[in-house]
Parts: sequence; structure tokens; C-alpha cells
Amino acid sequence: MLRATITRWLRRYGAASWVSKSSFTYRHTALSLFCLAVVAIITFTYGLLNWLYFDEPRLAAIELAVSLISAVALVDLYRNHNAQRAAWVAVIATGGMVLLYFWYVRAEYSAIVWAALFAMINFVLLGTRRAAPMYGLFVTIVTVTVLLKRHEWPALADSASLANHFGALLAFGILAFYQERARETAHARIQRLAEKDPLTGIANRRHFVEAFDRSRHRLIAQEQAYAFLLLDIDHFKRINDTYGHAIGDEVIIAITRRIAAAVRAEDLVGRLGGEEFGVLLVNCRSDDAQARADGIRRAIGETPITVKDQTLTVTISIGVASDMASALDFNTLYVRADEYLYQAKAQGRNRVVADARPWPSLAEEHG
Ligand code: GH3
Ligand code: MG
Ligand code: MG
Repeated sequence: MLRATITRWLRRYGAASWVSKSSFTYRHTALSLFCLAVVAIITFTYGLLNWLYFDEPRLAAIELAVSLISAVALVDLYRNHNAQRAAWVAVIATGGMVLLYFWYVRAEYSAIVWAALFAMINFVLLGTRRAAPMYGLFVTIVTVTVLLKRHEWPALADSASLANHFGALLAFGILAFYQERARETAHARIQRLAEKDPLTGIANRRHFVEAFDRSRHRLIAQEQAYAFLLLDIDHFKRINDTYGHAIGDEVIIAITRRIAAAVRAEDLVGRLGGEEFGVLLVNCRSDDAQARADGIRRAIGETPITVKDQTLTVTISIGVASDMASALDFNTLYVRADEYLYQAKAQGRNRVVADARPWPSLAEEHG
């Protein structure tokens, strides 16, 4: 419900494409929006109460200032889509507010209750890696304050009060840390399962297409040429039939390693189907694409593969579709590469067939 509402808001404010780019950004945007709204409303309410009802204008000023900061950060998040910045503002504003309040009421019991709010917002918004040092800083500031003020502030006179402060601070921090860490671990696991092909460990089709689309946006912005390669193992059925499915699996793994070793770190490799792979060569003009595809073909076909005491020569065929960074999407390039792959198979396999037309005529055609 909440997620749907927030997504609708973001769409309305033109942030949809950016929201869909990564779940990490989405999560932090949604959470930052939520936390900022909660902080703005709570501090505004308490600000009004303290100002009009409890006659505490200084306290009210702190709270209303934090309310204002949170509201400004909310607007900023809508307009600039910077989830990270909004998260930091929310964390620093609530942390600062809790410390000011702690100082203002001279460490009375109620002061430390608000540290729970800070612990939650801090860990949920920043994640354990950034939040742990922030919380350490927070506890240090409270500790130093308590040590300096223990003779002046009445609430610190009895040691039970001190013990309560530190016990509560520690419990809030540890609970928030473990809760967030459990979420991070689960999230990483789900992400791995959703994105990786279990046999080879490289990107599965869905993840490859997503990563491809993300890269394409960047490449278009930078006016870089790129090429899409569709690779298919030759006569793979025969390998399965002759040596068995288990050896077939090992061959797929071995070929994945060779493909990965033959491309650069910035290129993308994915397993698109059973024994079919996709490669995105970035910063690669079509006149280089064929040569680079041929390098991959040779890296596989020219050295026999040894798996489980069997040594076999396996070849692949490659279809290459290249384009200057114009508007071609994955499916268009895939269909074209598949046609070239079909031609490579028809011409006798173990070969590369690429766009005949030189760069950038294709871009002009589609631009
Ligand atoms: P071609 O040269 O025309 O590509 O011939 P081919 O025999 O490779 O034909 P095709 O690409 O259609 O064959 C795919 C075969 O790959 C069929 C399927 O049994 C096998 N295969 C698909 N996925 C896996 C897998 O994960 N492991 C194993 N061992 N075999 C697989
Ligand atoms: Mg195939
Ligand atoms: Mg095949």
C-alpha cells in the first residue's frame, strides 16, 4: 500500500525511471521519504505543544527548526532525487535534535528515550556500514557530556540514572544494528538469487538485460559506440549425447570462464539461455567488434577443454550487432544478432558474422 502510494508520487514528480533503476535507490528513497515525513510531523507537533502549551519556547525552537529542515529535505528529495543526501539530512537532523534536547533537559530520563528514534532512523537509512560509526559518534558525545556535567546536572547525580542512560543507548544501538544487518543479508541473498545464473555464477538473462539497458543509457549520454554479441555453442546436443549432461554442464562452465577472460572488466557477460551467451562490448565500434568477437571465438575453439578426464574441442558461433549509441533497445539488437548467428551456423559454424554495413551507417538509419 505504502510502496504503491510512494511509487505513484514519484511517478507524478517525474522520478519513475530513476526509481526503477535499482532497488537500493528505491528502498532508500522510499525510506528517506517516510522517515523525513515522520520526523517533520513529530517535531512539528512537539514544537507546537512546547511553544503553546508547556511554555518551553527554546525547546519549541529546536523542534520547529528540525521540522523545517526535514520539510526542506523532503522537497529536495522530490526535486533532486538524491536519496543519499536526504538520508544524511534526516540522520543528522534527528541526531542533532536528540543531543540538543539531551543538553537542554540536562540529561533527565526522558531525554534518552528519544535516542531510540535516532538509532532506528540512523541504521535504517544509512545501512550498518555508515550507521555504526555515526552511532559510535553519538554515544561518544553523550558519554563525554555526561562525564563533564555529572556534578552540575541533577539527573546525573545518582548512578542508577547513569546506568539507565548507557544501558538504553547500548540496547537501542545493538538492536537497530542487528535488525538492519539481518535485512541487508537477506536482501543480498535475494539479489544474488535473482540476478545470478546458478550454474555459471554470471548474470542471468533478466539481470543481463537490466544491466544492458542501464549501460546503454550511459553510453548514449557519452556518445560511445557499443556492440552486442550473441554466442551459441556448436553442436552442443552432441556433447550431451556423447559425454552426458554432467560433462555438458562442465563445458558450459569452462566456456563461461573463457568468455569472461576474453573480455574487458567493463564489458557485460550473461547467460541468456541453455548454451547461449550475451556479451556487451562497451566503447567498441563495429569495425573493432568483429575482430574482438573473433578473439573470443578463438579463445574457445583453439584450445581443447578438459573436464573430468575428457578432453574435447568445442567451438562456438557468434552473431554481432553493433550500433553507435543510438536508440536501439536490447530486443532489436538481439533479433539482429540472432539473424547473424543463424547465418554463422548455416555457413558451417565456428565463425563470426557481423553487421556488413560499416559504422555509423546503422546509427544514421535508426537515428
Ligand atoms: P547448433 O550448433 O545449431 O547450436 O547445435 P546445438 O546442438 O548446440 O543446438 P542447440 O543450440 O539448439 O542445442 C541446445 C542444447 O543445449 C539442447 C539442450 O539439451 C542443451 N542444453 C541447454 N541447456 C543446458 C544445460 O544447462 N546443461 C546441459 N548439459 N545442456 C543444456
Ligand atoms: Mg542454442
Ligand atoms: Mg548450440
